[in-house]
Amino acid sequence: MSPNPRQLDYELRSVRLPIENLGQCAACHSEKTATSTLRLCSSCLQCAYCSLDCQKSDWPNHKGACKLTDCIELSTFYPLLACLASSAHVHSDKPMNPAINHTILNSPNPGPSSSFSSSIAPGNLIMLGPEIPMTEWGSPKWWPTALSPKVRSKLFRRLSSEGYNLQNLTAVCVALLAEMYTTTARVGERRRILRYRSSPIADFGIVRGAVEVQPQDTFSYMHLSDDGTPPRSWNGPDPKDHYWLYFRTTRGEEVTLDFAMYYYNFCYMVDSEPYQEPCSPPLSFVSAFFCDRPLDRNAPSLYTEKGRISVLRNTVLHDAVAHTLHGLRPANSNAIIEFMEGFSGKRSSAIERDLTLKWLMVNFQQLESALRRQSWKRYPAQPPVGIEGDPGELDLSRMDNDDEWLQFFRRWKKQHKKSKPTKEDVAEAFKAWRSERKL
Ligand SMILES: [Zn+2]
Ligand SMILES: [Zn+2]
Repeated sequence: MSPNPRQLDYELRSVRLPIENLGQCAACHSEKTATSTLRLCSSCLQCAYCSLDCQKSDWPNHKGACKLTDCIELSTFYPLLACLASSAHVHSDKPMNPAINHTILNSPNPGPSSSFSSSIAPGNLIMLGPEIPMTEWGSPKWWPTALSPKVRSKLFRRLSSEGYNLQNLTAVCVALLAEMYTTTARVGERRRILRYRSSPIADFGIVRGAVEVQPQDTFSYMHLSDDGTPPRSWNGPDPKDHYWLYFRTTRGEEVTLDFAMYYYNFCYMVDSEPYQEPCSPPLSFVSAFFCDRPLDRNAPSLYTEKGRISVLRNTVLHDAVAHTLHGLRPANSNAIIEFMEGFSGKRSSAIERDLTLKWLMVNFQQLESALRRQSWKRYPAQPPVGIEGDPGELDLSRMDNDDEWLQFFRRWKKQHKKSKPTKEDVAEAFKAWRSERKL
């Protein structure tokens, strides 16, 4: 039976935008001036008044909407968004980083004896050998020369979190717009908005730019095959082509949220346990760098912004999320992908497109669950955050054989008069070193 048109209308969601600025009194409509300030209703943060009298006189009108509004504190809610972003990386359709299912031949350990050498590759070079079965991923067979099991485990997790940052952020933001900032026609449905401290969030979206990262905290890869095919090399994500989220309050204050720094060994983490929904995959600590007011005041910024786009106030996305109550229609999927491509200036690959939409569907479900169950009411006031250091990072006495390899490579370059070695040269030298060392 096909649904009747009335029923379809009922199933439409429309975006209810939060207050954008404190420009005008909701009762007497007097404008904000240089000497006067307007105050928000402290309960819903959605109505501004010039005086207590105006607020009192407007109460009979405002009461209904006010009592149906929940203001959710961003600084306690953001770990849920980080969980969505983190679970995207364990989605079964995300392409495998080849460094996960191939053995690691060299020793990209952290610390002073790292295999990083800018003369070979722009990032910490990971040399890959034969493919290994899934049961060996992350095992000592996968990376025999790891300094310790902890170092091995950390590299495995860093490599697993590689890539698809813009797609991931788009799927998180569009889901937040669709689940938190829309309403259906149901009578008495509660309205939910985000706030940061005493101010409501007026806008949020995605920023494009560069993040400051040490070269040795990025990766490049080289795959050496034993069957005589030429070595293949490629670079991991580029910190100069980075994306993160901004949230701006009605006062113009901004906080930022970044889920993709763990890959760069910048390990602000939050314990996902309090934020689990019945439908969420099991996660432990997830990557989340929430740059809030204290951090912004006390630490130099790592970011250089090159452009930004609003998600909350994007009318194309408002149309796209109107039909998302039971999934995405092709036209809406296209609008979301075009939004992303328009911002990045890059065409999406089939995989990027597919992942964005699949992640979005998962995020719809998880956010819907968290909001319906009012999970945010039991979130800890202080999210359980921590910084994961490099295990054994300060252990200067440990020498691994990477130093020998780099020394060998320097000699080899001189002997073969290769001041600017190609990837074939690096592969050849590495093979020579391994056969000399009988590795
Ligand atoms: Zn007034
Ligand atoms: Zn109110």
